Amino acid sequence: MKKILVACAFIFTQHSFAQTKTENILLRNYRPVSIYKTPTADIKKAAFPVIDMHSHDYMQTQKDIDEWVKLMDKMNIQTTMIFTYETGKGFDSAVEKYSKYPGRFELWCGFDYTGYGTPGWQKHAVAELERCYRKGAKGVGELGDKGDGELYSKPTPGKGLHIDDPQMKPLLEKCAALHLPVSIHVAEDEWMYETQDSTNDGLMNSSKWHVDMNQPGKLGHDALIKSLENAVRENPATIFIACHLANSCSNLKVLADMLDKYPNLYADIAARYAEIAPVPRYAAAFITKYQNRLLYGTDNDPEEHMYLTTFRILESADEHFYEIGLFTYHWPLYGLNLPKNVLKKIYRANAERILKYYK
Ligand SMILES: [Zn+2]
Repeated sequence: MKKILVACAFIFTQHSFAQTKTENILLRNYRPVSIYKTPTADIKKAAFPVIDMHSHDYMQTQKDIDEWVKLMDKMNIQTTMIFTYETGKGFDSAVEKYSKYPGRFELWCGFDYTGYGTPGWQKHAVAELERCYRKGAKGVGELGDKGDGELYSKPTPGKGLHIDDPQMKPLLEKCAALHLPVSIHVAEDEWMYETQDSTNDGLMNSSKWHVDMNQPGKLGHDALIKSLENAVRENPATIFIACHLANSCSNLKVLADMLDKYPNLYADIAARYAEIAPVPRYAAAFITKYQNRLLYGTDNDPEEHMYLTTFRILESADEHFYEIGLFTYHWPLYGLNLPKNVLKKIYRANAERILKYYK
């Protein structure tokens, strides 16, 4: 009898200790290690030479750029689009900075909103766009609007302007005339708008990127998507690239509906791999259906592990793996196992078509 009591006390102690410990684990410290022993792919580079349709001017020195090119060679990245946001001298120096590697980098400019608010301000903006084009700009972007109408540009942002503002029309029409695609980031993914509580599926990410809607006049997710749709519809000769799957990863139908309606709309997958990898069958079906309209991009710091993880998610059939350090979600991820012909279009053929057309 005594022995049994001791045993029960032991079990109780163990149990309550484990429970207490579990209760103290914070989601932000959660670092599960996949327990599944399933086969994993050993991807060392992309399956096809890649055109990265979304990156930035990450490098400070010529030596950094040399290293980047070496890494691109190793990863099978043929060309990287660099969204500079810049106009004027800033754009010219970015062109100069990457000029040692023609064909490996293409520079995209911003819009110059100098004089915005005064009548006819667009005249200067259009002239500056033409100048950047002559300097070698291959596109415009990444424009961006998270609700305030910032439309990212340096040195002069278009504060208060949304992409469907009629004042933007002369600029967007000039992009069509010069065959410059327009890359634009609107809104954020939906969990960044949701209350940050224990029901928020993307809590770890949303705690970093939460959108504060307590500002008068600020547009929310749906209104921003609508502003993009309006611009795409009103400027049918201009090619638009919606960054990050139009920040509609939790409801890809939103993007699908726009792709169905507007042949001048494309979307990049940049920095949204972790957002589609939790739903691999649905995401793969979506990408396969819109295989002529989607573009590979990275957006993140160019590091080997980052590139390899994007390839793993698109190419492999790996299951239940984590990349919390890279992506900040607690979700397990799954490879999409995309067919080779689809991969080739996403990795390069669609980009080639857009960029060739625009020469
Ligand atoms: Zn970006």
